Amino acid sequence: MHITILILITALLIGSFLNVVIYRLPRQESLLGPGSHCPHCRQMLTARDLVPLASYIWLKGRCRNCGQPISLRYPLVEMLTTACYLIIYLKWGLSLQTAVGWVFTGLLLVAAFIDIEQGIIPDRLTYPGMVAGLILSLLTIGLRSSLSGLLLYGCFLLATALISRGGMGGGDVKMAGLIGSFLGWPGSIAALFLSSLLGGIWAVVLLLSKQATRKSAIKFGPFLSLGAWLVFVYGQQLIDLYLSLY
Ligand SMILES: [Zn+2]
Repeated sequence: MHITILILITALLIGSFLNVVIYRLPRQESLLGPGSHCPHCRQMLTARDLVPLASYIWLKGRCRNCGQPISLRYPLVEMLTTACYLIIYLKWGLSLQTAVGWVFTGLLLVAAFIDIEQGIIPDRLTYPGMVAGLILSLLTIGLRSSLSGLLLYGCFLLATALISRGGMGGGDVKMAGLIGSFLGWPGSIAALFLSSLLGGIWAVVLLLSKQATRKSAIKFGPFLSLGAWLVFVYGQQLIDLYLSLY
């Protein structure tokens, strides 16, 4: 029981750090310092402003100094990180698979939320992420599978980007390489299938609700991340479900 509480606190703190990465990485700011400040009034935040989730609640979602709203993304990322980390821990316990899953989840969340806010997935995330995927594969799926996944998924999205001429960005292509390096072969194929399905459903919803036209590009990053995470955690169940449809 105690270990679960420790896991929850660790996940919340990592979620809080991921928020810093999401804000600073696309702005070319250092991840290590100086300390966090309010983006509106530049007031430095103190320890009591930085308690994951709790600060947001007792500040009622507003800066203590200027009263401007704090992005809902902060508590959202903290809660998502905690939920995803807990699911992975409950599935694989204290193991290398859990450690690799936590790293992968962190990369997926950061990519998804930077894409939502900025419409890009930075190279400063994807290239180190690919290297991490290849190295960590030595502990899990093996280097051969990891490299196959990276090349396969990356090249498939590269071809899609070239054919669609701007419908998909270079950041998505590199993100697919990162995902491939963690999922390997054949997991990457399942992720490609699932992400395309989820992204396609979302595009139809946007079209029907007239939020988008046939010409507008939808942000694919969040769907790349969501599909990849579901395959990482529930890959076997998803394949069984798919096969049971026939
Ligand atoms: Zn402020």
